Amino acid sequence: MRTIRILSMLLVVIVLVACAPVPQMELSFDPSVLRFSGENAYELEEEFVTTFTRRVSGTEQSRLGTEWLRQQLEGYGWNCEFDDWEVINYSKPVQLRNVVCRLPGVDTVDEREILVVAHHDIAPTTIEGADNDGSGVAILLHLAEIFGAEEPPRYTLVFVVDDAEEYGMIGSRRYIQTHPNPGNIIAGLSLDNLGRYYYDKMILESVGQFSGYSPIWISLMIKEAARDVGGLWEVVIKTPVDQALDQAVPISLTDQGPMVAAGVPALGFSAGYPSEIGDEHYRLWHDPDDNMENQSPEAMEQSGLLSEVWIRQLLSMEDFPEESGPYLYFENSESALRGLPLHLIFIVFTGLFFAVSYFSGGRKFEEKINAWKGAVPHFLGLWLPLVASVLLLYLFVEVGILVEYHLYPATTKDPEMLNPDWLAVFLFLIGLALFLAAGRWLVQKFVGEKVSLEWVDYRSFAFLVIGLVGISILIANPFSLLFMVPVLFWLLIRGRKGAGRLLDILFLILGGLMLYMLIYSFGWLILRYGWVFLWMFLNVISSGMFSFQAMLAGTAVLAAGLTLVVNPPGKKMEDLTSGNSKY
Ligand SMILES: [Zn+2]
Repeated sequence: MRTIRILSMLLVVIVLVACAPVPQMELSFDPSVLRFSGENAYELEEEFVTTFTRRVSGTEQSRLGTEWLRQQLEGYGWNCEFDDWEVINYSKPVQLRNVVCRLPGVDTVDEREILVVAHHDIAPTTIEGADNDGSGVAILLHLAEIFGAEEPPRYTLVFVVDDAEEYGMIGSRRYIQTHPNPGNIIAGLSLDNLGRYYYDKMILESVGQFSGYSPIWISLMIKEAARDVGGLWEVVIKTPVDQALDQAVPISLTDQGPMVAAGVPALGFSAGYPSEIGDEHYRLWHDPDDNMENQSPEAMEQSGLLSEVWIRQLLSMEDFPEESGPYLYFENSESALRGLPLHLIFIVFTGLFFAVSYFSGGRKFEEKINAWKGAVPHFLGLWLPLVASVLLLYLFVEVGILVEYHLYPATTKDPEMLNPDWLAVFLFLIGLALFLAAGRWLVQKFVGEKVSLEWVDYRSFAFLVIGLVGISILIANPFSLLFMVPVLFWLLIRGRKGAGRLLDILFLILGGLMLYMLIYSFGWLILRYGWVFLWMFLNVISSGMFSFQAMLAGTAVLAAGLTLVVNPPGKKMEDLTSGNSKY
């Protein structure tokens, strides 16, 4: 306990002294040039969303919509092309199309560009898709009209009206992944959900798709510039807690995601609303009522002006700050925790698991290594069945028991996600049970009486595995270590006998809080699915949205925990722990 107290004090000290200053940003263009008109954008939006209703990816309506968009942008003097490609989604081939338009910069040798995207596709549960994302498309169009009428800009502007945002930012991902040199993209902006009458602030989305988080300068730039211009909505940078959670679960829900993952400083503009609107806002999400009745020229004007400020500010800058790596930004002190001090926290936390592993069992190091070797079969007997059950889900997709998705499963509120396929669930559970039974049986048959380990040896091995997984997370995405915090409950598992074993199982389940937190925050709070979220969770795994590597790591931690309460081969847990007091 004393060590823990000292460690936590050390962490507090690190946080207090280690915060570094952030880049200072200020307005560097004359705001009298701003020209965005909410009325004009509102009219463009109305024309687009009422003419091209039901423009779900791959449909004829979608194709007609992209032709109209191209015509509009070319009419404003931009050079446009279609980028057509095909993906498999809902187990069917789907034709996708981005409309990619460029307004060349004044210096033809300078290949740098400023990228703005909005998506033309809608969720299948929508009709007009006015706010999502007619609002973003209309703002992009009106901005194209404004900049197309001016002298060539300092840097090339690239406006992409992209496809299949709803199925995992596929169009934005396509633009980035086929870009000859993403390093030439100075910054990127996604426009999405920006025109509802009740919006009153701008929220900045910074999450990368599967990795990354946008640098703080790009957020500070728009926040400061908007404040200096005056009369605009407040621009909100998320709180440190939300920044940590966003970085712990790098699953983007808007088009900046793929840009950020590719290292481009990018933001998603998504307007914010008063908290009492929360229920209505959720109701309108991917709903037939997402129509023009709930849009307002005033909201469009605010969102559009902020977008114009974002572009003009970048056009007025000569060089751009360099930043990298995870961080936490503290608005009050205008400083960020990053680099070595931040990593020290992650390293100390991960090191804790190795320390527990080392001090469990109290053997000499060589003996310990032998004990670890002896514990491997018991662990594998639990881990490999879990891995096999993940592979089983991939197989279900191959043979058509589960639907195949390109990247993310279906869309929010999609009937596919709200109506579990019980046959698939049943087959999965049968498979999991059979794999576990087989794993246990094989270990008992081939290792059986050969091992003579004490319970603490299994404990030592389990925390070694958790420590190793911790290192892999530390390297891949350190904030995800947040989900390992509940695993500290497993320190309380003591290999108890009889009724005490229930207590151990309780601690095991409490450690599973990491999973619970994920399911609760996504399933109940963000998607409001309740238990149905478990069905989506299955599809998240089968579609590979959680990568196989991530599943290997997650199941290894789970198996390590199970090692602590499941009877090892050869002996019953009761025999193992009798008279044992070595921990
Ligand atoms: Zn959207």
